[in-house]
Amino acid sequence: MANNASPEFELIARHFMRPAQNAVLGVGDDAALVDVTNGMDLAVSTDTMVSGTHFFPDVDPENLGHKALAVNLSDMAAMGAMPYWAMLALTVPSVDHDWLGAFAKGFFDLAAEFNVSLIGGDTTRGPLSLTVTIMGEVPMGAALRRSGAKAGNDVWVSGNLGDAALAVAHRHGRLVLTEEDYRDAVMRLYEPTPRVALGQALRGVATAAIDVSDGLLADLGHICRLSGVGATVDLNAIPLSRIGARHIGSDAGRTAIVAGGDDYELCFTAAANSRESIAELSDMLGMPLTRIGQIRRGKGVSLLGGDGKPVKVDGRGYDHFSAP
Ligand code: ADP
Ligand code: MG
Repeated sequence: MANNASPEFELIARHFMRPAQNAVLGVGDDAALVDVTNGMDLAVSTDTMVSGTHFFPDVDPENLGHKALAVNLSDMAAMGAMPYWAMLALTVPSVDHDWLGAFAKGFFDLAAEFNVSLIGGDTTRGPLSLTVTIMGEVPMGAALRRSGAKAGNDVWVSGNLGDAALAVAHRHGRLVLTEEDYRDAVMRLYEPTPRVALGQALRGVATAAIDVSDGLLADLGHICRLSGVGATVDLNAIPLSRIGARHIGSDAGRTAIVAGGDDYELCFTAAANSRESIAELSDMLGMPLTRIGQIRRGKGVSLLGGDGKPVKVDGRGYDHFSAP
């Protein structure tokens, strides 16, 4: 490093410059260089997180570092792509090395787990916000898109849904979790597990896929709109944690579970003759994969209760620009 390195460059060098494992050139030059494998499509995605909108201002910086990368890895998972490279654009109100160190730890611990290299970014002063761009590879033509669902397909979801949104609902006073349940649920909110291996295993099996970030009904709605179909979801089939099971009976609990979001599970569609291979995949990955409904002709997502009647839900997923 030059003797007269600027404070900004020192900050970058101290917290964000690590050897890039799988890049030709990482942090430090005007641009990073990556070597894209022949026969692969480059998958690219960006997600921004703004204080007060995407996380509580008092969030633990290590959790935040994890989450900023996790939500982007989740987009790679939803495309069936293998993530390799990340860029981090960071806006912070002041230089707080303890905060930055903890943030970097959360980010790099998760990056190491998925063998992802931070190859560049930008650092500016202002209200706290983070933008991560992730890049990965997927065999040409094999990416999982939102647009491939067909009438008659099954609708599936990984893991279980609702804990993250239940933690948010508790924070906002819309329902009350026990202390222990809140502690567990909030970890799902702050440290989601991106389903990267699942996404890749679903190539050639899923007809469409999306990660559940805005809420099951909203995200499945995106698949439906882009595929020109409708969907029916069976409320009783939605996989829940013990916390979700305790709250699905209340209006606020049900709303959080089906419309709340922040789960980062994968929702995907597949032909009925894929049921056996999906069950095998579930065993292989040690992860529940649950059939929750059906794609049909028409449009929109309907949620049906045990009696087969439609269930009304207040929220329909998070939309940044909808009227309050
Ligand atoms: P420039 O003036 O060309 O925009 P910068 O001074 O912003 O360059 O960045 C210097 C180097 O540090 C670049 O390689 C950039 O990608 C990298 N960088 C800046 N901020 C970050 C960050 N928060 N995380 C990772 N790399 C960063
Ligand atoms: Mg810059």
